[in-house]
Amino acid sequence: MSEEKKSLNFLEQIIEEDLANGFDKSDLRFRFPPEPNGYLHIGHASSICLNFGLGLKYNAPVNLRFDDTNPAKEEQEYVDAIKNDIKWLGFEWANELYSSDYFQQLYDWAILLIKSGKAYVDDQSSEEIAKQKGTPTEPGTNSPNRDRPIEENLELFEKMKNGAFEEGSHILRAKIDMASPNMLMRDPIIYRVLKKAHHRTGTDWNIYPMYDWAHGESDYIEGISHSLCTLEFKPHRKLYDWLLDQIYDGGIRPKQREFARRNLSYTVMSKRKLLQLVEEGHVNGWDDPRMPTISGLRRRGYTPAAIRKFSEVAGIAKRDNVTDVALLEFCVKDDLNKTAPRVMAVLNPVKLVITNYPEGEEEWLEAENNPEDEHAGSRKVPFSRELYIEREDFREEANKKFFRLTLNKEVRLKNAYIIKGESVIKDEHGDIKEIHCSYDPKSKSGSGTEESKRKVKGTLHWVSIQHAVKAEVRMYDRLFSDEAPDGHKDKDFKEFINPNSLVVNKNAFVEPGLQEAKPGDRFQFQRLGYFCVDLDSSHEHLIFNRTVPLRDSWAKIEKKG
Ligand code: ATP
Ligand code: MG
Repeated sequence: MSEEKKSLNFLEQIIEEDLANGFDKSDLRFRFPPEPNGYLHIGHASSICLNFGLGLKYNAPVNLRFDDTNPAKEEQEYVDAIKNDIKWLGFEWANELYSSDYFQQLYDWAILLIKSGKAYVDDQSSEEIAKQKGTPTEPGTNSPNRDRPIEENLELFEKMKNGAFEEGSHILRAKIDMASPNMLMRDPIIYRVLKKAHHRTGTDWNIYPMYDWAHGESDYIEGISHSLCTLEFKPHRKLYDWLLDQIYDGGIRPKQREFARRNLSYTVMSKRKLLQLVEEGHVNGWDDPRMPTISGLRRRGYTPAAIRKFSEVAGIAKRDNVTDVALLEFCVKDDLNKTAPRVMAVLNPVKLVITNYPEGEEEWLEAENNPEDEHAGSRKVPFSRELYIEREDFREEANKKFFRLTLNKEVRLKNAYIIKGESVIKDEHGDIKEIHCSYDPKSKSGSGTEESKRKVKGTLHWVSIQHAVKAEVRMYDRLFSDEAPDGHKDKDFKEFINPNSLVVNKNAFVEPGLQEAKPGDRFQFQRLGYFCVDLDSSHEHLIFNRTVPLRDSWAKIEKKG
């Protein structure tokens, strides 16, 4: 689709409207504001693609702002991982900023609020405060501290800052309206005491600003024109605007607008739940290839292009919805189909002996790297008398629909010859140990002979035993066996973990060229799926991760849609 033909999403429409009403295009400015309390996931990727996409579209700066106002949960490790993931996705931020950079400014503004009678220190217990909050249908009641004199508020707030009070004993509240139908407007907390070291400001502060106070004011400091967030913040918009009203002093006035969170079937997305999976050892870390994190998807073999495409195709919605994970799998397959070199690997090997092929002989046969890419070229793969093929590709007896190898029938070996099944040798348990076949020496692929053009129903992949390289293959599947693991009222999401989400195969064989493959390299194992080299892989011990099998369920869904 060309850029012009694409219809605008509703956020772009809002921006276009602002521009039509005279907003200066050069004043457009966006931000992506992660809290560094975990790794980014595929939902964040949508927000990243949205914000950075708008930046590219309007040639506007996009800030990376770490929303680091809760030292209890935030760490430098997460900051580094987030930066790495955004870069990997292919985006560049204009400025790397931190809400904690604004702690002094936010504090100064809070004093302004107190001085204008718009904020007060409350030292009631949290139970007391909760009781006064009211319900959505009943107004709350005013705190007895609501009319505390300004001087006293200033004094107490300074003491809070200096560490004179314990956590939970004092808060600063905005003085708005305890009867507001919007519960968030009922004198919300804007500062709390927290005696925790912060990953950037150390022990400088004993009080930390709440999200609502920090976010909009940070947007204002940075001159953000459109502050895009997920739907759960919609009721916060009124508060966002009220707080801005108190300190607004000219310049760009940021505008909060909301879009639906990206939800994905067969997984969970909240960082709290992902952290549980990591901490309780259900997965091997944040970058486990089964995790919906960007680092997990990367390790699984996903490409940045596939994730960007997914975000674009899934789109930006106004209402909550769940995107089928099959769409994500479709996007990575579509991309890898164009870019991943084809190779041969046998995952469940059985020995095939070509009885009329000369012993001790080997040939290096021409094999095309990628029929979907004319620049991909070709390589040579070794062929010899003894090969591995997939155990599933042979049956002693088979019906007409079995297009693979059976006795007295012909199939083609990919890039090589036509063979015909002759006999089998079994072990003492009756399992097939060797399959014997004959080959037609004139049928070599691409040789141009009549025999090479002969049509046979099936084509099998193979590797030459003598040349094959042993590899470990980690067969990953969906982490959850339920479509909505966290959608069950009476069951914990972890009850739906798929016990077969990882099956390790240490007995696979790959063609010898793969010996040199490096972590992150991606391939199509012909007829099997897409695989990538794991971070733990080495020259001596090759490890591949299955990104996604070739056959998919998405085709069906597409037809329905
Ligand atoms: P989670 O609930 O998964 O822990 P969060 O909202 O607390 O996520 P933040 O680090 O605060 O995570 O999010 C950074 C930005 O990414 C915010 O603007 C947030 O709205 C957006 N975002 C987070 N999750 C999603 C999602 N699933 N889909 C789209 N955007 C998201
Ligand atoms: Mg958050």
